[in-house]
Amino acid sequence: MPWFERPLLAVVHRAYARAMRFAEEARALQPPPAPAAPCQLYLHVPFCEVLCPFCSFHRVRHHAPKTRRYFDALRREIVLYHEAGFRFRDLYVGGGTPTVDADELLETLALVRGLSPLHTISIETNPNHLQPAALARWRDAGVTRLSVGVQSFDDGLLERMARRTKYGGGAQIAERLAGARGIFPTLNVDMIFNLPGQTLPMLEHDLDRLLELDVDQVSFYPLMTARSARSKMERSMGVADARLRHPMYERILERLLPRYRAASAWCFSRSAGAFDEYIIDQDDYVGAGSGAFSYVGGTMYSTTFSLEHYCRRVEGGASGITQQRLLGERERMRYDFLMRLFGGELRHADIRRRWGRAFYLRLAPELAAMRAIGATRHDADAIRLTRLGMYCWVLLMAEFFNAVNDVRGQMREHIQAELDAWNEEACLAAEAGVGTPRT
Ligand code: SF4
Repeated sequence: MPWFERPLLAVVHRAYARAMRFAEEARALQPPPAPAAPCQLYLHVPFCEVLCPFCSFHRVRHHAPKTRRYFDALRREIVLYHEAGFRFRDLYVGGGTPTVDADELLETLALVRGLSPLHTISIETNPNHLQPAALARWRDAGVTRLSVGVQSFDDGLLERMARRTKYGGGAQIAERLAGARGIFPTLNVDMIFNLPGQTLPMLEHDLDRLLELDVDQVSFYPLMTARSARSKMERSMGVADARLRHPMYERILERLLPRYRAASAWCFSRSAGAFDEYIIDQDDYVGAGSGAFSYVGGTMYSTTFSLEHYCRRVEGGASGITQQRLLGERERMRYDFLMRLFGGELRHADIRRRWGRAFYLRLAPELAAMRAIGATRHDADAIRLTRLGMYCWVLLMAEFFNAVNDVRGQMREHIQAELDAWNEEACLAAEAGVGTPRT
């Protein structure tokens, strides 16, 4: 573990927790003012067939009739943004498991494509949905990137994650992935490293499988869990050994970089220009759906995490936004520094265009600290990440998303009774055969 790891994490944990504090209730029920340029649209589909114990996303168990009502509200909210002047360039559908109801998803994709010409459409799915007929439907709907949540090919780890029964064992997942190759411009596989109980040989085996499959893109995240979900996760999965995080990351770079290029510190692509969901190359993005975040004109927005409240608001003609927070100039500079360097470099020309010389003055402590620990290199045209810097940025980004997960955890705590009731009803419906996914 590099010497700076603990102090760095302690410092950024405080900074991100402050930055993510949504103190203001949103004044307007309507969408914020539309930016001049087309932006990225994120749609949140919070339904899953099983709830993995490590997961801190906003998700509930799939319940077919309620899921359909939600998708209907989601489409209304998209139209509301369009009527408010928003135009979309890229679409990302995440969750949850967006493909849990394929008909609803396809109707939603068709709506967005009809409103704005899209450059990319990225959707997340799970291995059990990789059926040939479903893959063909998504391809015909314009999907350019299919991202499959695999996490590991190790049967023991899949069992601990409660994923093996529903999504299949490692061999079955690999077979399904092999059948999905070549259908979309980008087939991405999401993996996790430094899982509780994961050893270096287990990671090596996962890397062997990935290299055999030769998919277009691999995203390898460290485990990120909200503080509120950590004890539950540790009870069912055990505790991860933090000392293995850096050697594991180094091993991932050693094995993947000869064949892939680093699209970001944790995303490895075969081709240049492949989309990485965590690279923010546009200034603004809009999140629609319950528990989605937006960043428009320097203000962060959050929609309500209550699915009932969300549907009622949108059915009544409002957006799902219930909270907002205006970021100060220094916070926006820091956000830029974090997000853009995650992609490997921050060009001086872009800094000057966006912030002028003030950027170098106001962020002088951060710039000096990162350079001093050997995380960045200051070239004539750009600030660039070093190899150690890539690991550093994995830590920073993981801490940032942990802060986001903490916000999710706090917001979900307020509506825990509603979520519990929803999950219970969905279980009963599934037992009665009502909630069978349509893929
Ligand atoms: S990891 Fe994926 S499948 Fe599991 S609960 Fe989270 S969103 Fe759902």
